Amino acid sequence: MENAAMQPPPSVIAVPEKIIVREFAARLGKPVTAVIAELIRNGVMATQNEEIDFDTAAVIANDFGIEAQRERSADDEAPSARELVQTIAEGKLTPRPPVVVVLGHVDHGKTLLLDAIRKTHIAKGEAGGITQHIGAYQVTVPTKEEPSPSGAPTKDEPSSKLRSDGGFRTITFIDTPGHEAFKAMRSRGAKVADVAILVVAADDGIQPQTIEALRIIEKAKLPFVVAINKIDKPEANAERVKKELAELNLLPEEWGGKTNVIPVSAKEGTGIPDLLDLTLLVADVEKDTIKADPAGPVLGMVIEAHIDKGEGPVATVVIHSGTLRPGDAVVVGKAFGRIRVLKDFRGHVVSQAPPSMPVRILGLKGTPEVGDLLRPAADLAGVRKELRKVQYTRKAAPIPEEKGEMSETAGQKAVNLVLKADTLGSLEAIGAALKDLDHPEVQTVIIDQGLGNITEADILRAETSGALLWGFNVQVSRAAEEVARGKHIAIKTYRIIYELLDEVRAEMEKLLVPEVVERELGSVKILAVFRSDKASMIVGGRVLDGKIENGAYAKTLRDGREIGRGQIAQLQVQKVSTQEVLRGQECGIKYRGEPIMAVGDLLVAYRREEWQRQLAA
Ligand code: GDP
Repeated sequence: MENAAMQPPPSVIAVPEKIIVREFAARLGKPVTAVIAELIRNGVMATQNEEIDFDTAAVIANDFGIEAQRERSADDEAPSARELVQTIAEGKLTPRPPVVVVLGHVDHGKTLLLDAIRKTHIAKGEAGGITQHIGAYQVTVPTKEEPSPSGAPTKDEPSSKLRSDGGFRTITFIDTPGHEAFKAMRSRGAKVADVAILVVAADDGIQPQTIEALRIIEKAKLPFVVAINKIDKPEANAERVKKELAELNLLPEEWGGKTNVIPVSAKEGTGIPDLLDLTLLVADVEKDTIKADPAGPVLGMVIEAHIDKGEGPVATVVIHSGTLRPGDAVVVGKAFGRIRVLKDFRGHVVSQAPPSMPVRILGLKGTPEVGDLLRPAADLAGVRKELRKVQYTRKAAPIPEEKGEMSETAGQKAVNLVLKADTLGSLEAIGAALKDLDHPEVQTVIIDQGLGNITEADILRAETSGALLWGFNVQVSRAAEEVARGKHIAIKTYRIIYELLDEVRAEMEKLLVPEVVERELGSVKILAVFRSDKASMIVGGRVLDGKIENGAYAKTLRDGREIGRGQIAQLQVQKVSTQEVLRGQECGIKYRGEPIMAVGDLLVAYRREEWQRQLAA
């Protein structure tokens, strides 16, 4: 490795689909320890002899300012997102429901409109109803025509009557109104939606965010419908909105232009069926692009993700193409895992998610980000290996009864920690690294851990459990800071995992029984015994080497063998008390200890020095 470290690093390196960390470090021209450190920082615990996959390697290489390029091998089947899209494009495409996003100025009624659509078009009396929003939902809209016998669309049918559901058509709504969320999704370069509904309040007209929304729509080349909302309001003026649209070169259809405009009231539910019909009509203009191969490789996009206390990382994905099923191994941004459970937007467990379906997925390791692409894991064995690496979770230890930073169970001491971190990946990485620090005499115990900033509750938890309260890549709320100050609880936050680990190590070392070293000071030859009591003696002698100090420990040697130990309680030179006696001097010594000394013995003075033991780094 040293040789590799000496060479100037190349700016581009070739990396196969899987590479041993040591080999990767060599290709990077970096010390393997630096590479392992970077891996840990990215939440991957790997030793130098373990394999990492290309994606991980590419991220790490990038951190070193080096580009990793995929080294191809004959049996290399890992599909990149681009390759997937290519495969998908070549697959057998069938129509899929359009995915619709609602945009518009704040307070113009996006949320209420999405609620109204959900309420009016999701079968009434459905068991349980919708208990929680997952970021998207689907509605079924009856088609105006009788269903064709097969229920499937035929080539000859007019596009507006295209059926996908035997008399019903499905529309997927992305239920996260707000341009920021939409922009975040788009910034990942993926196609979020097929159609947009631009909401404009009839009593307020075109506003700055309406213009912004239009720009986004234009950039994404999305077909769109303008919903003039709040027409129930007495001051509503739909005509004014149309005029404003015309001024923006968006001449409404009824005025001979191309812009689809429809008046609605989200509050009263008026115009909603027409809005959905129009949305489908607009989608059908683009129907050639609103297709997917349900049998092809699965590709989806994350529209919502969070950590659920009970279920762990949960993400809502809208499937672009292919069909997602439980058991599928997937990679989603930096998260990965095997799909454990799929739930639809109603919270019902489902056995598959075909194209355009929003689905909540459980089973991921790590939390993906909004806009991340879901794709199949190239190699299941690799994923399983990754899973094994991060699956380590520490059991919460019982809360020690006594306050203090350590607890002792079965003779083993422990540093108790309450840990908060920014991501599950960080927690997992820290947990695994802490386990590596465990020592036969002292270990770390995570009393509690969680994601997010340090709060008052964390302080109370640390206080009652006598734990150290540490954060990684998180902040301390002002209120928490004050509570901590009042309770004299130190909160430490870290940004670098190694700094955190170093401090943990230091805390653990404090608990190790120190190593005691005896440092010899000098020796005295006993020339006379003046007095001998039950537990002390007064003797006279000459210092043969080194020096004798008052208060020092002393051991008596006879014929080279130790026969007793005690302490020097007083030193005199010519009847004057002194603190030390040097080589060649004669002195009187008051010795505390078993009175076994005799003329001719050697009294060796020594100091006991305690050395803080260290854990192997
Ligand atoms: P958003 O910011 O675009 O999501 O707007 P909201 O859906 O939160 O609506 C903003 C306000 O307008 C709320 O007080 C709604 O109740 C109200 N609102 C929305 N749609 C209508 C409507 O059709 N009629 C009336 N009268 N009020 C509406």
